[in-house]
Amino acid sequence: MKNNPSDIWIDITDIPKEGLNLEVMKDASFFKIEEADFRIIKPVSIHCNITKVGDDIYLQGKISFTIETNCSRCVASFTLSGDTEFKVTYLPETLRPSDEEVELTRSDMDVSYYSNNRLNIILPVRDQIVLAIPIKPLCTPECAGLCPVCGQNLNIRRCSCDKSEEIDPRLSILKELKLKKKQ
Ligand SMILES: [Zn+2]
Ligand SMILES: [Zn+2]
Repeated sequence: MKNNPSDIWIDITDIPKEGLNLEVMKDASFFKIEEADFRIIKPVSIHCNITKVGDDIYLQGKISFTIETNCSRCVASFTLSGDTEFKVTYLPETLRPSDEEVELTRSDMDVSYYSNNRLNIILPVRDQIVLAIPIKPLCTPECAGLCPVCGQNLNIRRCSCDKSEEIDPRLSILKELKLKKKQ
């Protein structure tokens, strides 16, 4: 395990019987996310409770974050704030599945492993932020997107292109619905 000074390490021997409450703000630079199509632009707030039952460590809490990303419809850059609840179970490194078993368990994001009585909470927090961001983020729910003919951002200005030919048959149902609404 890399000993990165920017990580948040918890020594499990410091966790009292009644659990440990952690409230931290961590600078965006702690959450380097490679190849992401968004950027964390404000400190991330992490509120969590850590409890220990035998060798199992349970982390439960809430993360608040602010990112900058591009709208999936009009490609404009915009800021998105969100909260996400999370729950992670840490098991001793010795219980980590072998390589053959990993394929089966990789999708299980809620389990992490610790060794030397220390656990790092940055990685699961980072994973939770990634999961909480919509796959197709929208600058506003009503974003009009780009004109498929001339590329004009229709939120800023309408264009005079004739888009009637361009409408996908699957979308024509939506168009009819919209027309009905207007009546
Ligand atoms: Zn947009
Ligand atoms: Zn146009």
